[in-house]
Amino acid sequence: MFHIYCPYCEELREEEEFHPKGQAHIARPEEPDACSDEEWGDYLFFRDNPRGIHHEMWLHAVGCRKFFNITRNTVSYEILETYKMGEQPTVGAEHLAREEKTSSVQAAEGGQQTVGASDAALASVKGAQA
Ligand SMILES: [Zn+2]
Repeated sequence: MFHIYCPYCEELREEEEFHPKGQAHIARPEEPDACSDEEWGDYLFFRDNPRGIHHEMWLHAVGCRKFFNITRNTVSYEILETYKMGEQPTVGAEHLAREEKTSSVQAAEGGQQTVGASDAALASVKGAQA
């Protein structure tokens, strides 16, 4: 069980009270009659599926029953922020780029530790043979 912060209720509530409603910030075409079939189809059916930062619309279904937006990392499932409808996110894709650089450095350090550990294991094997 984890908790999601509802920006309208202004408190953390249990995840089961919420429903995801898909990609946020999809603007309805100003003049639908002027759209080509492809443009209208894009608006109705096609959504982004990014690896990383994603802005999503959620509904506090068993609460205030209001829609709001979440910025979520689709790799780690971490919710980075929630904000009311009509507001703009403060976290964007450039935030993730910084995070990925940091985590790749950590992975490299972890790799060195593994190498160090296997050297120690090798030394103990050599010690046992001697
Ligand atoms: Zn709420």
